[in-house]
Amino acid sequence: MPDYYAILGITRGASAEEIKRAYRKLARESHPDANPADPHAEERFKQIGEAYEVLSDPAKRQQYDTFGDVNATGGFGGFGDIGDIMDAFFGGSPFGRARTRTRTAAVPGQDVGTSVVLTFEQAVFGTSTDVALQVQARCERCNGDGCEPGTFRTRCSNCAGLGEIRSSRNTILGTVMTSRPCPVCDGVGEAPAVPCVECHGAGRSLRKRTVPVEIPAGVDDGTTLRMRGNGEAGVRGGADGDLFIRINVKPHEFFARRGDDLECELNVPLTQAVLGAEIPVQTLDGTETVKLSAGTQHGTVVKLRGHGVPRLDGRGRGDLLVHVTVDVPSHIKGEERELFERLADLRGEAVAGEQKGIFRRLRDSFLGE
Ligand SMILES: [Zn+2]
Ligand SMILES: [Zn+2]
Repeated sequence: MPDYYAILGITRGASAEEIKRAYRKLARESHPDANPADPHAEERFKQIGEAYEVLSDPAKRQQYDTFGDVNATGGFGGFGDIGDIMDAFFGGSPFGRARTRTRTAAVPGQDVGTSVVLTFEQAVFGTSTDVALQVQARCERCNGDGCEPGTFRTRCSNCAGLGEIRSSRNTILGTVMTSRPCPVCDGVGEAPAVPCVECHGAGRSLRKRTVPVEIPAGVDDGTTLRMRGNGEAGVRGGADGDLFIRINVKPHEFFARRGDDLECELNVPLTQAVLGAEIPVQTLDGTETVKLSAGTQHGTVVKLRGHGVPRLDGRGRGDLLVHVTVDVPSHIKGEERELFERLADLRGEAVAGEQKGIFRRLRDSFLGE
């Protein structure tokens, strides 16, 4: 068991306040980021954290004092990593900014948006495509670190590692201190000793990239796909942004889409509507035969089940709704006219029409579906 008092450089009778003060000072000085050249810095920093965790807890301290051991469940207890300890300790404190720089230094990559144009069939059945982007991509030479391979980050000389430039000026209210992020190190407090020649130390650069995209079956015009981590590269460990792809679908020659159903119109001659017919209809899956019974009305909707759009959740497909329109001939001549006149006589339709309320007609057309 290590001597926690020796690690923190305090006596066995140290007060809680003295323990805290000693830990803060040591944690600051021995933080691995502040000692990039020292391979043992991280180990020492961990020991300091461990010592503090035990001695700052009255129960654990007593157990340690009594038995020279603590029944600790892992040295770091509730803390996730070094960064967490620093945050828990220094976050929000007056000197928090410079201390928590391992966290604040990370900048997440921006999301990137693009769009693709698909044919109607591609949207219905899905497709694979590539999108070409120009994005800030992680530098491969330095793996986003910004340092030439084999070199490390060192304390920024411009701000002496503080990450900020402080200035004071005298006003009638007294001395006003102001600070702004250091422009050389971007407020990080450290910079590559030898900047990567590829990205000049930025860790990323603007590059053309081709991203293969799987378009799922059933996407619609205006659907946006999200590809996590395919946006701009994050900086200094920041998460990569996402890629958002908006889908634009070209209209189809005869199919319109309503949800997962497709709709089209089937224009049939008056005679076929009266006599009944079997009519070939083109679907997205090939030709189907639509059977119209004798006396099919204008506005009838024939449903071809399963010939619509695949549902995005993978559960089957919608239907193809074929709206039947009856083509009333606008030009008839000679014998045709005679036949229609004879038909009108036979059916006693010389006096035409039946008056209906407009509402009933509207309702009839809805019921037709
Ligand atoms: Zn600086
Ligand atoms: Zn680089």
